[in-house]
Amino acid sequence: MTGPDGPLVGVLALQGAVAEHVAALAACGARTRAVRRPAELAGLDGLVLPGGESTTMDLLLRTVGLDEPLRTAIADGLPVYGSCAGMILLADRLVDGVAGQRTLGGLDVTCRRNAFGRQVDSFETDLDVVGLDEPVHAVFIRAPWVEEAGGDVEVLAAVEVDGGTRPVLVRQGRVLASAFHPELTGDHRLHRLFLDGVARG
Ligand code: GLN
Repeated sequence: MTGPDGPLVGVLALQGAVAEHVAALAACGARTRAVRRPAELAGLDGLVLPGGESTTMDLLLRTVGLDEPLRTAIADGLPVYGSCAGMILLADRLVDGVAGQRTLGGLDVTCRRNAFGRQVDSFETDLDVVGLDEPVHAVFIRAPWVEEAGGDVEVLAAVEVDGGTRPVLVRQGRVLASAFHPELTGDHRLHRLFLDGVARG
């Protein structure tokens, strides 16, 4: 289904669930490019920041010199989708990061890393998502949640925790972020949601 006319979407490929996102994007008709160096950002219509380990990604981003170019590209409006560790990378503010951990920012949220307690640090649930008719089966793996969100942030899905709700799928303009891993389930609706935003330009 990948066609010559599909948007060109990069997948940050320093660490984490890269191949799964490439497959999901390709199944939705996008062209994909693994991004490991700053030059590989040129000409992208959008970018996915995969799950993995945000502390490792932070170090690797700085090592390969991708951190500042990415920060600038996101601030300049490059459509970005971050899942799990990718959500952490997009958060403007981070709680429970390791000492010195930095994010790229772009999403006006406070994100709590490893937010779900030890008993449920990995779990699966069906989530109602704003704009989708059927729930999304969501896989959470040592996931973050959104602790606080600015006024321009739309909450598209949330989970109930201790009688309160915690956002786990949010969008702000061209930035989309999920605390869970849609690339692992074969359900491509969230990748399509992201690509719809890419296509709107
Ligand atoms: N706990 C990881 C982190 O801090 C995120 C886990 C994931 O991406 N599945 O980056």
